[in-house]
Amino acid sequence: MDEIARRIADNLATVRGQIAAAAGRSGRAPESVTLVAVTKSAPPEIARRLVEFGATDLGESRPQELWSKAHALSKVDVRWHLIGHLQRNKIRRTLPLLELMHSVDSRRLLVALDEEARAIGRVAAVLLEVNISGDITKTGLPPDELEAILESAAHLPNVAVLGLMGMAALAGGQDAARRDFSRLRKLRDRLAENAPNEISLGELSMGMSGDFEIAIEEGATLVRVGSALFEGIDL
Ligand SMILES: *Cc1c(COP(=O)(O)O)cnc(C)c1O
Repeated sequence: MDEIARRIADNLATVRGQIAAAAGRSGRAPESVTLVAVTKSAPPEIARRLVEFGATDLGESRPQELWSKAHALSKVDVRWHLIGHLQRNKIRRTLPLLELMHSVDSRRLLVALDEEARAIGRVAAVLLEVNISGDITKTGLPPDELEAILESAAHLPNVAVLGLMGMAALAGGQDAARRDFSRLRKLRDRLAENAPNEISLGELSMGMSGDFEIAIEEGATLVRVGSALFEGIDL
């Protein structure tokens, strides 16, 4: 095995160990947390290594980058996650590639996804991105708009809203991160109680390299980890 492959294998083992430990601390099985390996800073050949070592859920934040990596890795089995903004004019090319869209940030996008999913005979699995920290630099829907959006989602047969996605505040460190993640989970719990029957909101996408263990302790079911997987590698 070459040096880069060894590093990736080591980093992946470390992250998986940390995921399992954090899941254990919150009384959950390690399999209840999906690692989405964020490859936005890595070239396709490194992304391919991750897949070979069993990290088969990959995340990209830009649609064009996702298209080109999906093309480069078309021979391997990857479940692609989009974790960044999707413009409506890129839906047609992106949706067929996606396992899960994490970052629905407007009702217009939700409606457009439903239309395109219907056209290709699919149901698009999505999460609603929430601006939990209130950072003006952060994207996502204001918490108080979610209930209305879930109401409209109930009338869109070709989108399935599976849960919420959020990011912790940039400033404030680990305590602020825990507060933000806990806030997102409580928001989800409250919305799930009142949501239309067909919407279950079981998924919480939260946590990145710096805070994924806290996110798992607070209920994350998907963590989006990039840089921790590439430590010691010149990208
Ligand atoms: C880049 C990115 C990540 C991964 O960040 P790391 O700090 O590299 O782990 C997670 N989520 C989103 C939305 C991102 O854009």
